[in-house]
Amino acid sequence: MKSKAELFRQLPSVDELLHGADLGPRLAQEGQAATTDAIRTVLADVRSQIVAGRLDAEGLDLLLAEIPHAVERQLRASVSFSLAPVINATGVILHTNLGRAPLSEAALDHIRETASRYSNLEFDVASGERGERDVHVDRLFQRLITGNTAADISTIVVNNNAAAILLALNTLAEGGEVIASRGELVEIGGSFRIPDILSKSNATLREVGTTNRTRLSDYERAIGDKARLLLRVHRSNFEMAGFTEQPSLKELIGLSRQRNIPLVEDLGSGMFFDLNSVGVANEPGVLASLLAGVDVVTYSGDKLLGGPQAGLLSGRSDLIARMRSNSLFRALRVDKLTYAALEATLLAYLRRDYDAIPILRMIRLSKDEIGKRAEALRRKAQSASLVIDLADGDSTIGGGAAPSATLPTCLLALSSKNVTASELAARLRSCAPPIITRVEQGRVLLDLRTVFPEQDEAVAEALLEVASR
Ligand SMILES: *Cc1c(COP(=O)(O)O)cnc(C)c1O
Repeated sequence: MKSKAELFRQLPSVDELLHGADLGPRLAQEGQAATTDAIRTVLADVRSQIVAGRLDAEGLDLLLAEIPHAVERQLRASVSFSLAPVINATGVILHTNLGRAPLSEAALDHIRETASRYSNLEFDVASGERGERDVHVDRLFQRLITGNTAADISTIVVNNNAAAILLALNTLAEGGEVIASRGELVEIGGSFRIPDILSKSNATLREVGTTNRTRLSDYERAIGDKARLLLRVHRSNFEMAGFTEQPSLKELIGLSRQRNIPLVEDLGSGMFFDLNSVGVANEPGVLASLLAGVDVVTYSGDKLLGGPQAGLLSGRSDLIARMRSNSLFRALRVDKLTYAALEATLLAYLRRDYDAIPILRMIRLSKDEIGKRAEALRRKAQSASLVIDLADGDSTIGGGAAPSATLPTCLLALSSKNVTASELAARLRSCAPPIITRVEQGRVLLDLRTVFPEQDEAVAEALLEVASR
């Protein structure tokens, strides 16, 4: 058997490969720098396989013969997009790993129209003077939130809800105490924890109550000279049941008014559409909180709002004005693409054109509509080696909204006589575009609720292709 050193000596040099006949056409097309990079990457991979003892002399010979092809593949991958579309057949509507809310056509049009040319982002066309970027969406939020009343509410936009909380806490509570219930000191995911954000905002956390029970009197007792803020955090990704207690929002608002300490509520999802209409109860809405008297709410742009990634702060204009003049705001602000997408999304709400917003369209799909598409798809994708059944199931909203809220759906359940469910799922992921599914109890489940109708055809083709492999 050959030693590792002997195997290493068999490896061609970068120069030999670069000037070999096999790579000639590629070299001419992609240039020396890119081709050299690709060769280095491929050789490094072979070396690490030798080091790991995964190659004998015979294996190495086979691999060496393959090197020009491997370099070609590497070159192709290096000039193609890494961020690419997938088909979400998981039935999780706000799938954090799959990019949360897809944008509306109107949002995309408005992004293209304003971002590909100059715009009045910070320019007041009438006066010819400098303007503010917030005005473009603040006016729409005002109409959405206060309707025709004169409530003094403003909205500003930052990078995401985490940034919104940071800005609110730093502006309103720096050097002082923030009073929050132990039952709400949550981790949202991606190592975003409320206590960490609090310490980064230079405020001190004053925890009250216990994990399962916090009373109004706990808040009352904790309010001392240093108290600057009452913080309420929506438990968006878990539910607590059993022996639990939490003051109502109304009680907290009463306390905040009585002691003159602002109440900030982190809503997480930020809903302007009434989920009760699709049978999902108890998801707090932006309007309900503000009209009840919460001073400032924070929420995401790309959860139930169905817009671009953003963090929204809506609330009392005097408090929002302080946040706007905090230098952190400049660091956390968003670009014109986000304003364009938000503006178009909010206009759809004002027109009550809920079908224009993809996630609202998905949420409102009935099980029957989904079932009809599933049946049509099943007929198209029939083959000998794949068993396709229809089954009742649940879609979820996801993205830290309504944790236990589900929507009844009709699933396509796949099984194969030849391969396992996880192998089947892997094959679907290797299609172009990749199809992301759920595997449960030995079956691959596809939920068309989160598949755009114009993608049904691609799913049918993928099922036929996977069946024929
Ligand atoms: C999702 C969520 C956040 C984080 O929002 P991002 O927009 O992802 O930064 C914060 N708080 C709650 C309650 C959430 O649900």
